[in-house]
Amino acid sequence: MTSTPAAATGDSQPAVNLTINGIAVAARPAMTLVEAAWHGGVPRVTGVSCLESVCGSCRVLLRRGKEVTVDLACQTFVEEGIEAVFLPPQATPKHHYEISEFTDSWNNLARFHEIFPEASHCRHCHGCVRSCPKGIDVESAINLAAAGHFRDAGEMFLECVMCDLCDSACPEQIAPAHVGLFCRRVSAHFRLRPPNLIQRLEEQRKERLLGQASPDSHE
Ligand code: SF4
Ligand code: SF4
Repeated sequence: MTSTPAAATGDSQPAVNLTINGIAVAARPAMTLVEAAWHGGVPRVTGVSCLESVCGSCRVLLRRGKEVTVDLACQTFVEEGIEAVFLPPQATPKHHYEISEFTDSWNNLARFHEIFPEASHCRHCHGCVRSCPKGIDVESAINLAAAGHFRDAGEMFLECVMCDLCDSACPEQIAPAHVGLFCRRVSAHFRLRPPNLIQRLEEQRKERLLGQASPDSHE
C-alpha cells in the first residue's frame, strides 16, 4: 500500500493509511482511532458518546492481516494497514434487582446466584481476560463473586469502563461487567458509611427541616 502524501494530513510526516468502517482514511501518526474517524470524515458512529461528553466505551474490532482482536477506539492508535470496525453499543442489561431490597447480608450469596445463575457456569476459557482492554483479570473476579467474595471481586473491577467486550466473549453469557457492578453495589450497601459523611447528611437534613418550618419558605 502506498502512503498518502504528507500534504494529505497537513503534517510534515507521512500519513498513516487505514480503513475505519470500510472507509479509507489518511490519518496523522499518533492519532487514536476516534480522532482518525473524526478527521477522516467517517460518518457519526453510534455509541461514540465522547462527542457528547460521556464515555460510550467505543468498542472496535481490529484486523491486522489474519489477526482479529478487540479494543477501545480511544486508546488504540492508528497503524498502517489496520482495518477497524466500530461495534454496536452493548445490549441492555438483562439482570434486574433493587439493591435497597437487600436487608440481610446472610442472603447475599443466594440472591447473587438467583440474579446471575450463569456465574457458576464459568468454563475458565479466559475469553473475558483476553478481550478486556483494561487488563482486568475478569475470570478470577467472576470466580471470587461466585464464591461470595463480593468486596474482593468488586475491587478488581475498579478500572472497568463497562464496554461489555468481556460479555461478548463469554460463551456462558455471564455479563461480567454487571457482576462487577453488583459486587461494588452490595459491598457499599452493607459497609458502614464514613462518620463525616453521615454527619454532613444529618446537617443537611436539619437545614431542610428548618427551611420548611421557616415562614419565609411559604412565600
Ligand atoms: S466491561 Fe469492564 S471488565 Fe469487561 S471487558 Fe470492558 S473493561 Fe473489561
Ligand atoms: S469468558 Fe465467561 S466462561 Fe470464559 S473464563 Fe470468562 S467468565 Fe468464564
